[in-house]
Amino acid sequence: MEILANYINGELSKPQSNNYIDDQNPATTKVFAKIPLSDEIDLKFAIDSAEKAFPQWSGLPAKERAAYLIKISALINDNLEELALAESIDTGKPIQLAKTVDIPRAISNMEFFAHAITQFSSESHANEKSINYTLRKPLGVVGCISPWNLPLYLFTWKIAPALVTGNCVIAKPSEITPYTAFLLSKICIEAGLPKGVLNILHGTGPEIGNAIVQNKRIKAISFTGGTDTGKKIAEISAPMFRKISLELGGKNPALVFADCDLNKTVEELVRASFSNQGEICLCSSRLYIEKSIYEEFKSLFVEKVKNLKIGNPTNAANNMGALISAQHLEKVKSYIRLAKEEGGHLLCGDEKLELEKENSKGYFLRPHVFENLPNHCKVNQEEIFGPLVSLNSFRNENEAIRFANESDYGLASSIWTNDLSRAHRIGSKIETGIVWINCWMNRDLRTPFGGMKNSGLGREGGLEALRFFTETKNICIQF
Ligand code: NDP
Repeated sequence: MEILANYINGELSKPQSNNYIDDQNPATTKVFAKIPLSDEIDLKFAIDSAEKAFPQWSGLPAKERAAYLIKISALINDNLEELALAESIDTGKPIQLAKTVDIPRAISNMEFFAHAITQFSSESHANEKSINYTLRKPLGVVGCISPWNLPLYLFTWKIAPALVTGNCVIAKPSEITPYTAFLLSKICIEAGLPKGVLNILHGTGPEIGNAIVQNKRIKAISFTGGTDTGKKIAEISAPMFRKISLELGGKNPALVFADCDLNKTVEELVRASFSNQGEICLCSSRLYIEKSIYEEFKSLFVEKVKNLKIGNPTNAANNMGALISAQHLEKVKSYIRLAKEEGGHLLCGDEKLELEKENSKGYFLRPHVFENLPNHCKVNQEEIFGPLVSLNSFRNENEAIRFANESDYGLASSIWTNDLSRAHRIGSKIETGIVWINCWMNRDLRTPFGGMKNSGLGREGGLEALRFFTETKNICIQF
C-alpha cells in the first residue's frame, strides 16, 4: 500500500507524529493509500520553511516565478494519464471527466497565472498637485485550503495565483482526496521549485486545517469548501484583520423559457445537474421551467437522465461514478427520503443499479429527479451536493426571478432563452455571482469567479486573484 508524504521545505517528509489515516477508493471501498495525519509540529516546520523562502522568492522577477509554473504545468501535462487515473480512483469520478476537465484545468490554471502575472499592472492617479501610484506587494506566507470534489483543479486554482504574486504557500488538500496533491509535490520537486516556496500538508480539516487558520503567521486564507466551514474561518480570521477569500456552497437555479432551443437546453441541463455525480458547486439543482413547455421538457429530461450510465468510474463508457464517501451517500439518501416526505413526486432514480462485482459495495447512486416540491422546502433550499434535482414550473418572468432568488445561496445560475433582451434583464436581477446564458460551466479564467450571500466572500480568477494575494499601497508624490 502506498504511504503518502507531506511536502515541506522542498522534500517529501513523514508527519512528526508518525500517524496516518486511510485513503479509500469510493467505487470499491478499498483502502489504497495511507495519508499523513499532520499536526501543529508539521505546520511549524512548514511555516518556518516558507518564511525563510519568502525574501528570495518574492524578490525574483515575476517572469522567473512564472517560469517555474510553466514548468510545473508542462509536467502535469506529461503525466496527464497517471493524474487522471489517480483522480478517478481517489474521488470516484468518471475517468473521462478527470481526463478532459480536472487535469487539463490544472494545467491551464498554472499556465494562465504564469502569463497573467507578466501582464499585471497597477494604477496611477494624477491631479493638479500630485501623482499617485499603486504598488501591490506579496503578503508573505498564505494558506490555501481546498475540497474533495475537484481536487487538483481547485488546489492549483489557488496556489498558482498565490505563488506567482510572490507569496509562499501552506496548502491543504482534502483528506478524502489527497492523492493528486501528493503527485503534485513530486512534480514540484522535479520542476526544481525552490525549497519552502510551496508546502503541502495532509490531514484532517478540524486538525491541520484548523491549525492553519488559527496561525497568525498565515497572512491570508483562500478557502473553497462548505458554508459552515467558511463561517468558522471567517470568525477566526476577523479579529486578525486577515484577508480571506471564501468560495462556498451553492443551490443553483436554472431558468428555462419556452423560446429556448429545447433539445440543446435539455442536453446541457442534464450535464449541469449530474456532472461529477452532482458534486460540483456549480451544478444546477433547482430547474424552473416555463409552464407551457414544462411537460415536454420533463419527459425529454427524464428520458435522458435514465440513459446515463452509472458504474466503475475507470471505465470510460460510464457517465457517472461513485459518490465520495459512505457518509456523503447517506446524506444524499436522507434528502431523497425528505423529498418524499415534503411531497415531492419522484420521476426517476429508484430503479435497481446493476454494478460490476468489484463495485458492488461502492457508493453509487442513480440520478434522482423530483417534481412538485414547494420552493421553500428544505430540499429546494439546502445544498445537497449530489445527484438530486427538483423540477418546478413558473408562469412568467417575474415569478421565475422570484423563485431563483428565494435562496440563501447565490453562487451560479443559468438562463435558457433565445430572447436576448430578457436574458440580459434577468441576468442583472438574479442574485448570483455567476450567470450563464444558454450554457453552463463555460469558463474564461480572466473572469471574476465566486458567489454572493451564503456562497462566499470575494472573487477568484484573473485580476481578482492577483489582487487578493497582494497588499495594496498608494504612494503619493507632490509636484
Ligand atoms: P468542507 O468545508 O468540509 O472542506 C473543505 C476543506 O476544508 C477540506 O480541505 C477540509 O478538510 C477543510 N476543513 C474542514 N474543516 C476545517 C476547519 N475547521 N478549518 C480549516 N479547514 C477545514 O467542504 P467539502 O470538502 O465537504 O466540500 C464540499 C463543499 O465545498 C460544498 O459545500 C461545495 O459547494 C463547496 N465548494 C464550493 C466551490 C466554490 O467555488 N464555491 C467549489 C467546490 C466546492 P478535510 O476534507 O480534510 O476535512
